[in-house]
Amino acid sequence: MYCPFCGAVDTKVIDSRLAAEGSQVRRRRQCTECGERFTTFEVMEVVMPRIIKSNGLREPYDYNKLRRSMALPLQKRPVSIDEIDAIVHRIEQRLRQTGEREVSSRTLGEIVMGELKAIDDVAYVRFASVYRDFQDIEAFKAELENFTPRLDDKHKVDDGKSE
Ligand SMILES: [Zn+2]
Repeated sequence: MYCPFCGAVDTKVIDSRLAAEGSQVRRRRQCTECGERFTTFEVMEVVMPRIIKSNGLREPYDYNKLRRSMALPLQKRPVSIDEIDAIVHRIEQRLRQTGEREVSSRTLGEIVMGELKAIDDVAYVRFASVYRDFQDIEAFKAELENFTPRLDDKHKVDDGKSE
């Protein structure tokens, strides 16, 4: 951080505290050259990329829409509201981590599928079957055959068979 008084490059932080209920950091700095003091505010930048739909139209990221798209596949599944919140939070982090200003709805769909796959097999297959818009039942069967439930999964699919 340049000193606003003499332009020196080297300034040190002499005090740092949260402001605006924690969404800002207020820093008191001192120039190591001229000794002048000044204050900086750092504000967290929380910007979600816009979503590019398959028809090319752009729309703002919509938290409620994302929650809704996950509510149906997770219906009557052993996944708590807290877990769903955590998934949505992770998805938002992933979107921000792309560093892109725009992300395709396809990319978003793949991220959602990845998260659902990690938490609940049935929800994953439900979402994938709608999302991937399977052309025919053969494609859907192929998807199921490629799909191997993990043994350590606490939400494992119960097929009723005991082997
Ligand atoms: Zn200075």
